Parts: sequence; C-alpha cells; structure tokens
Amino acid sequence: MTIDKQLVWVRDPNEGFLLARLQELMGEEADVFPVDNKYPKRVVSFDDIFPAGDPAKDVDDNCELMFLNEATLLNNMLIRYKKRKIYTYVANILLAVNPYEDIPDMYSPSTIKKYHGRSLGELPPHVFAIADKAFRDMKALKQSQSIIVSGESGAGKTESTKYILKYLCELWAKSAGPVEQKILDANPILEAFGNAKTTRNNNSSRFGKFMEVHFNNKYQVVGGHISHYLLEKSRICTQSSEERNYHVFYLLCAGAPQELRAALKITKPDDYLYLKNGCTQYFTTPQSGKKISASQMSKQHQTKGGLRDPILDDVEDFQRLHLALSRVGLTEEEKRSVYSVVAAVLHLGNVEFEEEGGARGGCRVSPHSEGELQVAAGLLGVEAGELRMALVSRLMQSSRGGMKGTAIMVPLKTYEAQNARDALAKAVYSRLFDFIVHRINTSIPFQASSYYIGVLDIAGFEYFQMNSFEQFCINYCNEKLQQFFNERILKNEQELYRREGLHVPEIRFVDNQDCIDLIESKNHGIFHILDEESKLPKPEFSHFTHAIHKELGANNSRLQVPRASRLKAHRTLRDDEGFLLRHFAGAVCYNTQLMDKLKENGTNFVRCIKPNSRMVGGEIEGSLVLTQLQCSGTISVLALMEHGYPSRAPFNDLHQMYNQYLPPKLQSLSPKVFCQAIVHSFGLSDKDYKFGVTRVFFRPGKYSEFDTMMRSD
Ligand code: ATP
Ligand code: MG
Repeated sequence: MTIDKQLVWVRDPNEGFLLARLQELMGEEADVFPVDNKYPKRVVSFDDIFPAGDPAKDVDDNCELMFLNEATLLNNMLIRYKKRKIYTYVANILLAVNPYEDIPDMYSPSTIKKYHGRSLGELPPHVFAIADKAFRDMKALKQSQSIIVSGESGAGKTESTKYILKYLCELWAKSAGPVEQKILDANPILEAFGNAKTTRNNNSSRFGKFMEVHFNNKYQVVGGHISHYLLEKSRICTQSSEERNYHVFYLLCAGAPQELRAALKITKPDDYLYLKNGCTQYFTTPQSGKKISASQMSKQHQTKGGLRDPILDDVEDFQRLHLALSRVGLTEEEKRSVYSVVAAVLHLGNVEFEEEGGARGGCRVSPHSEGELQVAAGLLGVEAGELRMALVSRLMQSSRGGMKGTAIMVPLKTYEAQNARDALAKAVYSRLFDFIVHRINTSIPFQASSYYIGVLDIAGFEYFQMNSFEQFCINYCNEKLQQFFNERILKNEQELYRREGLHVPEIRFVDNQDCIDLIESKNHGIFHILDEESKLPKPEFSHFTHAIHKELGANNSRLQVPRASRLKAHRTLRDDEGFLLRHFAGAVCYNTQLMDKLKENGTNFVRCIKPNSRMVGGEIEGSLVLTQLQCSGTISVLALMEHGYPSRAPFNDLHQMYNQYLPPKLQSLSPKVFCQAIVHSFGLSDKDYKFGVTRVFFRPGKYSEFDTMMRSD
C-alpha cells in the first residue's frame, strides 16, 4: 500500500471531516480540494488539517491506525458502522455506536462463549470483551472492578449494561442460578418505574444505577445489589410536549385487568392531568428486552401516532411487569399496594383548587375534584379529611424563648396548594421507587462475597430549554465522572510513566477541577450557598442566584450571567434570574455516596455514541459523533495513546503467570530478568514495549499479541 501524502482530512462543520488533497501551503493555512467534488475548494488553518493514512481501511483498535488523530478516529468509526461493526477500542476504552437495530448473532449464547477468557484484542472489539476483562482483572489483581458506561441520552448505555450483566451472569449460570435470574428480572421492573419516552429516546432511563454482581473467593456469582441515583421527579407532574410520564402509568391504564382497574378507579391516560400534558396520544414503548424496530421508531416519530398496536404492547408489558414483580417476591397483596400507589399519584394530580375567602384568604379543593381526593386518600390509606387539610394549609408552630408554642394551620394560596400537591405526588412516587429497588435487592440471594463487578449506567450531560436543580445534579455528577476519567486515564497514566522513568512526552488536557470546586467547595461553593439559602426563613430564587453571582461571579471564567437570547429575545437577564455554568461538555444553564466506590475499584470504560438524532439504524452523522467523542474526553486520550503504553504488567505477575510454560532453567531467574528474557525471545520489536522500574509496558495491542504467543508456544 502506498500512502498518498497529499491526502488529508480537513475539519468541516457538517461532516466532521472531509477528505481532501493539499494544493498549496501558505503561512498558517493551506489551500485544499475536497476529494468529493460536490464540496468547493477551501482555505483551511493548519490546526484543522490532519494526515489521512489509508481512508478505506478500518481497524479494531484505533491505536493501530497509521496516524492517530480525531479525523482518522472518526473515519474509522464511520466506515466500520457502515459494515455494522459497532465497536472499536481506543486502547482499553470501548467505543460503542448504537446500531438501532438487531445485529444477527451479536449477543447470542455462542458469542458469549467465544469471548470467555480471551484477552482484549484477541477477538473483534465487543462489550463482552470488556466484561471478560473486568472479570479477569478481578481475579488477577484481586480487586473489585467497575465498568463505567457513559454517553448521551439514546446512545445505548442501558442496553450495553444489560448485555454486560447478561454476560457475567450467563457465563457462570451454573453457579449463579437464582441470583442470575433475579438480577435480570430487575430490569423490566426498573424500566417500568424509572424509564419514560423522551424526544431523545423512547425508553430513556430517568435515574442512574450501579448494578453489582458479587463473587465468592472461588469467583462464582453469589449475589447482586442495585443502587439508584437521582430519579427525575419533575416528570411525575409535568412533561415536555412529545414526552411521556413513567411507563408504569400507561401500563396500568392499558394493561390492568378489569377487576384491578375498577378497584383503582383508573380509566385512560387522557383523563389524568399528570399524563395528558406531554404526549397527546399514549403510544407505548415496548421495553424490557423487546426492542422497537428502526422502521417502527421512525414511523412513530413522523406520525406522532402510536405503534401499530399500542394497546396490545401495553397489555403485554403490564403482564411482563406483573410477572417480574412476582418473581422478585412480591405477594399479590404487595403488588396490589404498589399499583394502588401508582394510581393514587394519578388521582392526586387531578385534585384542583380554587380561591376561598377573598384576596387574603386561602383556597379549597374544587368541588368537582372532591371525588378524586377521596379516591387518592383511599388508595394511600389515609383519611380524606387529613389529606385535604395537608394540601390546603401548612402547619406553623410558634416558639417563645426557645420553647415550642401553639401549632396553627396557615391557609395556603391556590398556587401554594398546587405546589404542595405536586410535592406530595413526587415524594410518594419516589418513595415507591426506593421501595421497589429495596425489594429487588432483598430478593437477590446473597452469600459472603469477596469481590464484585459493578456496572454504572447514569444519564449523560443534559441541556434543556429550562434547566432545573435536577439537571444541575446530573451535570454535576457527570463533571465528577469526567474528572474521574481524566484522573484514571490521563493524570494517573502520566504520573505512572514518570515514576517508571518511561520518558513519554507530557499530554495536555482540559482539567475540570475548577468547575467542581465552584460547585462543591466547602465555604463558598454553589451547594454551600444553596444550603445557606434553604436555612433562611423565606428562601428565594432571586436571592440565591444573586448570591451566586456576588460570591462566585467575579473573575470566574466558568460562571456567567446568561444572555437573554437563550430564553427571551432582546433582553439581558439580570443576575438574579439564573446563572450559566461552563461545563466540560459546553455551556449549560442552570450525592455522590458512589465516587468512593469507583476510586477503590479497577476501572473499565465503555463510551456509548449516538449515531444520529432520528433514532434509526444505518445512518451516521459525522459531526454528531465527533462532538460526542470530544465531550467524552476520548479525543484527549488519543494524544496520550499516540505516545503511550496502555497495557502493562508487573514483573512478578508475568513471572507467576508464565513460568509454568517455560523450561525450569528460566523459571529460576529473577522476575525482571525473566521478563526481559521472554520478551526478547519472542522477538517483540523494542518499539512495542518498555521496561519500567517495576513492570513492562506495552504499546496498544501488543500485550495481547505477546500473551497469545506465550500460550500457544
Ligand atoms: P438514556 O440516557 O436516555 O437512558 P441510553 O443511553 O440508556 O439512553 P438505551 O436505552 O440503551 O440508551 O438505547 C436506546 C435504544 O437504542 C434502545 O431502546 C434500542 O432500541 C437501541 N439500542 C441501543 N443499543 C443497542 C444495541 N446494542 N443493539 C440494538 N439496539 C440497540
Ligand atoms: Mg438508559
């Protein structure tokens, strides 16, 4: 193969990059002709020109590309996607592009078997290879492992997580038995209560989860545990147009048998204020393993109508949920209680209020919704009178000289009562979600565990027209994860090279520590200011945002007063109307108990990529993919990989692993000399590895080559 030296990639705002021929170099720029002559000749800055290599050749691991840069990485992913090869590596990081269609045999039991015990790189890249690596690392390093699955909404995180768990459970199915089934049963339940249709994903997870598979000291599956984070509560009361509330509400309306419907007094989604604000039609999203085909999805989007047979799908999904709840051990009575709470939320949402007693008075439950109040109270098992009182008034206790005085009921205005109703609905539903997760956890048999593999599936950065505290928390969480990624992959890696004396050139990357400090700093971070505000007798949004700008605004490049054009034209917002925080992934207006766990464990990263915004198979948009690669920090890793040594093994470990394959004479050598002897004897080029102080480092892909040679010889 001869390389055409004139052939380059040039940055293009629509395609990501265009293949072009260099025509003339001029100072800091060059004249280029795109190869596809539908694009005109252009002048491009040197910063936006990259060497091309062979643009038609694709590789499993991007580190094998002749030139490794963001353009060749993108091209590799695009040409592979067209061949339905959705996975690639950047060294040990798996990049997974959502195929939006079933690829034959991709996740079959025979594929699961094939990946068992094989080093990363021996077989084509796959999410199973990452699961197997985590398992092997857990055994070799005697350390629990995390697999962090990230990506934007609809990129395929939840599906990838399910395949990882399936792999881990199925491979050891013999020993796992009931544990495996329970872990897999959890998904349809979690999705019914915690997933919803959004404009970006028909089955979008509106909560984060960390699912652990536990192993004993013989590395057999002995248990599991699910932690959940940040359920989106605002969705329970309102949804954007074209979006839905949580699936379970629709499943219950369409799928509950007649007797249950009558007992819960539920009718159709259009009858409930909490459901009818979003989608005007209640089409369903089959979930839990049954995927919507590409054609169904696009049809759904074009017509805003339903799937072919909406009622049937909801009926089926309700039955699947009902069965899964039984399998995790809920009795008929408990299931009835769960459904009652779901229905109660719907009835509660229909309780409306009207003014009573003039301008200085309060409000009362509107007579036409009195019936709904009665039903909601009945389903929640509380007195209707008490519920009414709790909604239209607030308890105030006077205090004198530090002593509690008389309690008085202060009437609420109509809008305050509406807020109280919504707050109650959110609290009830989120407690129900906690209960469900708790019951799933108690149903998973658990014996003494030595290690675990945890899979993290958490929503990516979010940016809506209106960003509330919920988006702020999700984005904060992502900042922490981005920092963790930077630390594990970039900072620690470079520090290790320095300690081991490898002389790898220093790589610069965007450090987001300042953004995190701005949020969490003890005495003047955003969380601290929010905490202070909430302690005031009458906390106010405007006072809070003003305090943010006053305390943090000056000279802080991360914080800005938003420009009005984002919300309303021709007006600049005042500094008490909001703030704009420059997140890692761009500017976004607007509990981690978890980071500690991640820091203790070995880490494996899966970066999911959404190929197009139409949610269809076979289509891939270069610029969309490129943005995701940039935002996930993957581009920063390229520079490190270009010079780095991503695989490494301590001399002692290699000595222990391989001395059984070698003659006794070699076995008695010291670990370091032993390693030098075997690396030389297998004729590895000295470009492919380096000896550090305590371990051998390999260039991308070379350790697996070496491992295969050792075992086959
Ligand atoms: P969110 O953040 O909104 O929860 P997500 O990243 O979890 O999004 P998924 O729900 O996993 O996204 O994927 C969205 C849809 O894409 C799935 O419902 C499925 O139809 C399709 N999909 C994802 N991964 C695959 C895959 N490996 N094979 C086939 N289809 C897939
Ligand atoms: Mg998801």
